[in-house]
Amino acid sequence: MAVFHKDPCGVICVLMTYSAVLYADYCLVEHVIIPTLTDSIWGSLHVCIFNIIVLLLAISHARASFSDPGVVARPSTSLDFSEINKAKNKQSQDENEWTICIKCEAYRPPRAHHCRTCGRCIRKMDHHCPWINNCVGEANQKYFVLFLFYTGLASLYCIILTAVSWTMECHGCSKYYEKKTRLVHTVILMIEGCLFGLFVLAMLCDQFSAIMDDMTAVEHVQRQIRANRKPRTALLAEVFGRGAYLLWFCPCSSPRNVQRSTVASERYNV
Ligand SMILES: [Zn+2]
Ligand SMILES: [Zn+2]
Repeated sequence: MAVFHKDPCGVICVLMTYSAVLYADYCLVEHVIIPTLTDSIWGSLHVCIFNIIVLLLAISHARASFSDPGVVARPSTSLDFSEINKAKNKQSQDENEWTICIKCEAYRPPRAHHCRTCGRCIRKMDHHCPWINNCVGEANQKYFVLFLFYTGLASLYCIILTAVSWTMECHGCSKYYEKKTRLVHTVILMIEGCLFGLFVLAMLCDQFSAIMDDMTAVEHVQRQIRANRKPRTALLAEVFGRGAYLLWFCPCSSPRNVQRSTVASERYNV
């Protein structure tokens, strides 16, 4: 199920992300690779490698943005509100029990939380991310982490190639203003690479810490410390899929570990 949220902040952040990636691609090819490596096979190779990274980044971002993060189904018939309030008052603190969301008027499985931006309960919700204009939840966390990983890789590629290009002779920059234009673009690219690189590195550390601790950002805030920790590979497999490890890096393969027992429709026997 494809999703799209009409959240202005999210739409602006997504447009900014694509603009930054397209600018970095243009800048790296036009002002870093062509002026310094145009006569070498390395020039073509770097263009191919960088664009493959950008493609994987774009696929990861699109899948994180438009795929279902794990929305909890609503009942086909509305629940009796008096029962809901009664149940809410004696709600158990047991994290393995189903709870009731009075906003969705629906039962939700353990570890599901309500997102105010999406207006729905999301299974194993981590946080709502404006950069993908979607929630990060059980079903799309893999794509979100891959988006961060490929953004970090692209940033590192830009930083290294730009730094190396500054030490090389510029073949096509015969005029003064051409040298100045190239310098301005490469400095902007370097700043963009450093900012995005540091940002996604911090986010990646955060995500892996959440996966390894088996605690989402929401649960961290609520200090719901889980007693039974699973093995780290099992926790990673829950997010990236139970197939071959190499498929963990592929944004085209679906992790689909969603257990049907956590689908809310079964709760309503429909
Ligand atoms: Zn809800
Ligand atoms: Zn959300």
